[in-house]
Amino acid sequence: MLPFGVGAVLDVQGESFVAAGIERWPDLKTPVPSDRLAARLGVKGFYAAPHTLNDRYDQPDRPGVPHVRFPGWLFCGACRSMVRFLREMEKPGEPPVCAACAAAPRLTPMRFVRICADGHLDDVDWWYWAHSRLAPELRDSCTEKKHTWQARRLAFRVADRASGLEALSVRCGATRHDGKQCGAERDLLDILGPQGGHCPGRNPWQRRDENATCGQQVHIVQRTAGNVYYPAVYSALDIPQSAEPPRAEQDAAEAVRGHGCWPLLLDAPDESRADTFRRLIKEDTEAPDSLIDQLVAEATGAPAPTPPAAGPDARKTDLSRDEWNAFDAALLPEPTGEFAVRRGGLGLDGETEEPWAALDEHIGGVVLADRLREVRALTGFRRHSPGGTLVPADTSGRLRWLPATEVYGEGIVLTLDDKRLTAWESDPRVRAHVRGIRADLDASFRGDQLAETAGGELSPRFLLLHTVAHLLIRQLSFDSGYTTASLRERVYGRPEHGQHGLLIYTAAGDAEGTLGGLVRQGEAPHFAETLIRMLEAAAWCSADPLCAEHTGQGFGNLNRAACHACTLLPETSCQTGNTLLDRALVVGSARVPGYFTDVLTASREYAAATVQG
Ligand SMILES: [Zn+2]
Ligand SMILES: [Zn+2]
Ligand SMILES: [Zn+2]
Ligand SMILES: [Zn+2]
Ligand SMILES: [Zn+2]
Repeated sequence: MLPFGVGAVLDVQGESFVAAGIERWPDLKTPVPSDRLAARLGVKGFYAAPHTLNDRYDQPDRPGVPHVRFPGWLFCGACRSMVRFLREMEKPGEPPVCAACAAAPRLTPMRFVRICADGHLDDVDWWYWAHSRLAPELRDSCTEKKHTWQARRLAFRVADRASGLEALSVRCGATRHDGKQCGAERDLLDILGPQGGHCPGRNPWQRRDENATCGQQVHIVQRTAGNVYYPAVYSALDIPQSAEPPRAEQDAAEAVRGHGCWPLLLDAPDESRADTFRRLIKEDTEAPDSLIDQLVAEATGAPAPTPPAAGPDARKTDLSRDEWNAFDAALLPEPTGEFAVRRGGLGLDGETEEPWAALDEHIGGVVLADRLREVRALTGFRRHSPGGTLVPADTSGRLRWLPATEVYGEGIVLTLDDKRLTAWESDPRVRAHVRGIRADLDASFRGDQLAETAGGELSPRFLLLHTVAHLLIRQLSFDSGYTTASLRERVYGRPEHGQHGLLIYTAAGDAEGTLGGLVRQGEAPHFAETLIRMLEAAAWCSADPLCAEHTGQGFGNLNRAACHACTLLPETSCQTGNTLLDRALVVGSARVPGYFTDVLTASREYAAATVQG
């Protein structure tokens, strides 16, 4: 569920609309409190609008999220004439109909729109399209108005003899200055893709005087295409004000400050000596650069530099720290109406039989979240590609709030054994393997966006935990009938914050919450069995050996052994757009040991022994 989808194109009973920017919202709106999220996004607060669609945004007194008709070009399925439907032609509550046909059939929106990488959206210039194959002097001799919104005599034709886009054409029914029929016509065979002409620099709800100067290439796409809209959503869980300091981070900071080279680093007369002291501290304490930067800044009062790979906002938008600290606290917080967690377990204490004993050694713990509240805010959207320019939800740039929704739900927190995880991460084969993925990430134009979730420096544990989150969602969905789209992940995989876990949750409910079905799946003894089945499933993909041996698949080649058949999830379930996934780090491969390889081996030996009886 998206917070009102500013900028999204949506079909409503055969009509097509685009949701307007929040500067067009009515005054009647409901506050959605989330202090943490507001602080991170640098806004004063969040508002939700009533869940009604206001498709006539020229009536500001109506409640609901304002939408405007888009595309503005419609056609009649009976007489094929095209109509540019203007705002003054709108009749409240009535769909547009053909004025030329006696039966007044409903008009259908055109299927094609123009977008650019700066996030603009616009109608196709159909007059230009119909005349684009003519010599300029013939084109100029057409008496039809050249401005696309004024053209009156265009027709959207379908040929009987052809199929696909080739069968469709736009034809001009106007006359020329010499009195002859214009008859300019072009089929739509080449319509999809980059096109000439300049971008008008705005979105459909913006007035003509609100446009930006845009030098981007325009692309014609179907209005339902996936690249018309990439929402930028940030979400935060409510957590009680934590009394517990973050343990692991505290320990690491302590180790750095206690190191013999620490005072030398602070007093280092030049860069090269500072680097030497820093390297010694890092080698002994394994503290990441980001933590040392932060401590140096605290000690010297200088501003902490942002790690170069992390991008300007990576530190600011890391919402995972407080959440992880609440889930990982030695003493779990008291339950509230927004956050109720209790310690669970696999029920395997003292177990000596395999594969259960091995599994127990690899798992740190289980925390069951009976109640969670999540606030999802939309900061804006992109078009054309996920790396396009962000268009803010407030296209006027004057507001200090963002649109948001709140949902209540439940979840399962799974943590891995910290010591084992650290040991596995220091294996040179694991490091070498992850170095390759990190290089692809650094080369990707989404590197900065992904760093907000994965951390400034991509770690083996993030890839491992993220892949386990996907595999677990798929297994839970298989075992319990939850759809994969109803489950979501939050990966807590930043070594610099001592993170080593993940949350699988469902958040679809209102303040009454959800029914407890997911939490029951996380209880003993089911959950251990679910994990073993998950590992066995992870070792095999119907696209193997291709999938298992892949050196780069998916967006930006950011996945290794992970494809639709084995690991990927619906986009809404995943924090990273289905990137940074690799089954090899879970179950192992010829090149790299998996964190759970021993458990899988034990499970197979047990199965073989059972068969031999
Ligand atoms: Zn008609
Ligand atoms: Zn013409
Ligand atoms: Zn543009
Ligand atoms: Zn696969
Ligand atoms: Zn994911």
